[in-house]
Amino acid sequence: MEEKFKANLAEVRQRIAAAASRSGRTDADVTLVAVTKYVDAETTRQMVNAGADTLGENRPQVLEEKANSLSDLDIQWHMIGNLQRNKVKRTLAHATLIHALDRDSLVDAVAKEGAAQDRRVRCLLEVNVSGEESKHGYAANEVAAAIERIIALPSIRLEGLMCMAGLAGDADDARREFAMLREIRDAHANVRTDNVDLRDLSMGMSGDYEVAIEEGATIVRVGSALYR
Ligand SMILES: *Cc1c(COP(=O)(O)O)cnc(C)c1O
Repeated sequence: MEEKFKANLAEVRQRIAAAASRSGRTDADVTLVAVTKYVDAETTRQMVNAGADTLGENRPQVLEEKANSLSDLDIQWHMIGNLQRNKVKRTLAHATLIHALDRDSLVDAVAKEGAAQDRRVRCLLEVNVSGEESKHGYAANEVAAAIERIIALPSIRLEGLMCMAGLAGDADDARREFAMLREIRDAHANVRTDNVDLRDLSMGMSGDYEVAIEEGATIVRVGSALYR
């Protein structure tokens, strides 16, 4: 398993580097989040032994269990999924980056817990670029107000935006949606406060991470391509 993971990581990293160079950047500009939600803790350990250092989970309970059972390893845990307010505390105990602030009530819950822990929680804002009803996230025209709110919440450090491409679309639709997220970021790039600086774009999964990088992704979340 570990050998297979090594080979898969090498291939994904090579594709990341090629896509980054097509967008005038290098692989150092793109963080690979290896999504481990499909496998158990021991298999996750093999992924780390194979060379993954930043891991993504979408369920607080699993993130907590794995972080505890793999605490001997040096892992950056990212919460990539949607979060319920009552799971914020246990998630913040382990996650170094929250990818999907998708509504004001969650923003407030994270801010409150961050303040209680006397820390500044690194977060991204999820934007619903496809406009699909089933998708989470702020609508494009709500982003400015969400950023304004967060500026007043110093226990959150807003580092960028995140999106999921629509389920219905093809690669061209995904590219348009990634470009839209980049444009929304660019429109707010001049907002630089103590706790807001939109440097990062978390976009792209196994099926479309190369397109996402061509459109400016700085963080890609890749799962299934690592388990083939
Ligand atoms: C599962 C998941 C991914 C990874 O998807 P793959 O298609 O398996 O690469 C990325 N982002 C989020 C939010 C996920 O839940």
